[in-house]
Amino acid sequence: MAFPVWSEEHEAFRETVRRFTQTEIRPYAEKWQSEENFPDELFRKAGELGLLGIRFDPKWGGSGLDYWYTVILVEELVRGRDLGSVVGLLVQCEMATSVIHAHGSDELRREWLVPAIQGERIAALGVTEPGGGSDVASLQTVAKADGDDYIISGSKIFISNGARADFVTLAVRTGGAGSSGVSLVVCPTDTPGFSVGRRLKKVDLHSSDTAELFFEDVRIPRRFLIGEEGRGFHYIAQAFQGERLVLATMMNAVCRDVLDETLAYLAERKAFGRPIASMQVWRHRMADWLTRLEASAALTYRAADQLASCDSDAETAVSMAKLFGAELIRGLVLDCAHAFGGYGFMEENYVARASRGVQNWGIGAGTNEIMREIIAKHRIPVSSA
Ligand SMILES: Cc1cc2nc3c(=O)[nH]c(=O)nc-3n(C[C@H](O)[C@H](O)[C@H](O)COP(=O)(O)OP(=O)(O)OC[C@H]3O[C@@H](n4cnc5c(N)ncnc54)[C@H](O)[C@@H]3O)c2cc1C
Repeated sequence: MAFPVWSEEHEAFRETVRRFTQTEIRPYAEKWQSEENFPDELFRKAGELGLLGIRFDPKWGGSGLDYWYTVILVEELVRGRDLGSVVGLLVQCEMATSVIHAHGSDELRREWLVPAIQGERIAALGVTEPGGGSDVASLQTVAKADGDDYIISGSKIFISNGARADFVTLAVRTGGAGSSGVSLVVCPTDTPGFSVGRRLKKVDLHSSDTAELFFEDVRIPRRFLIGEEGRGFHYIAQAFQGERLVLATMMNAVCRDVLDETLAYLAERKAFGRPIASMQVWRHRMADWLTRLEASAALTYRAADQLASCDSDAETAVSMAKLFGAELIRGLVLDCAHAFGGYGFMEENYVARASRGVQNWGIGAGTNEIMREIIAKHRIPVSSA
């Protein structure tokens, strides 16, 4: 039996996303990359089609579906070949709002989640700080209780959608040191004291905005706390599973697109009187990448299956899928760009452009080392003696 088994409903959903991608993203991909921006309007268009709340409760405007639909959404959006805008959309629905959906009060969901699902409000997730991102438990941005309010001071860095967001799902310290002192709040970006610093220049994902955020005595109501005080680290760790699955799926989709493009080129391109695809060194190299991509997709689908069925081992599977995908994409895309010879270094070539940002996949939403730490924590026991 083929795995995964796509139903007619899955295929209909895939068709919807494919049409959206082909009309709303693909024609503008190069323009948005050269302008280093994409229009906010894209959020509203995605919201109208229900793409920003796939797994969320219909009560809040979501579609009540499972992780398999998220996999399809990501696989199809990547075909638009503008990963910056795709990151913007996915940060909104997978990273910044999933914790509000899972743990926020009904009041918070009405006020922030519903318009975000509709694409009427744009969201960012603010966890990483200039002092460090991997060690979330040591974050420094403070939210001090003051009557019915919190007063927030600190800064964040590398925040996707940061320059355009209407609100930030923000990780703050409300208690003492360590993970139990971390909480999550909703911070509207029109609150006095909030400011956007530099819009950071990246080597890839040019159309997405990635910003520094500053909080100087930003006063927000305490009712903007998401869930319970001191549970923020736990909520972030849970939400990371969905984010990492999304990234693993994106990496596989990019690899597939790049391989297809490369195989088509090698079939046509001749050197020494014969197609390069007939040369054994390239045939073997491409056979290896095809095999590794199948393995990566199988790992990712298994992780999606485990997340969809709330399997207790899902965290390990997701971490393995993200780690494997990040290592795969680095080698595969660089090798494919090499196969294009000089064209593999030209801006006009999609594979060349894809090769620019390959190291980033092993950083966002937890680095390769952090993935290894998680896998080791679950699978490699250490004797206490
Ligand atoms: C394009 C982009 C978009 C991003 N978007 C967001 C966003 O929307 N919101 C957000 O909050 N963050 C975002 N980030 C930040 C991202 O999550 C962090 O960059 C990442 O978590 C790593 O944190 P750091 O950069 O501070 O590296 P550090 O934590 O300083 O790590 C530096 C190096 O040390 C290694 N290291 C750290 N700890 C260990 C360990 N225990 N064992 C072995 N090695 C270790 C790391 O693997 C890494 O190689 C984004 C980053 C990028 C590049």
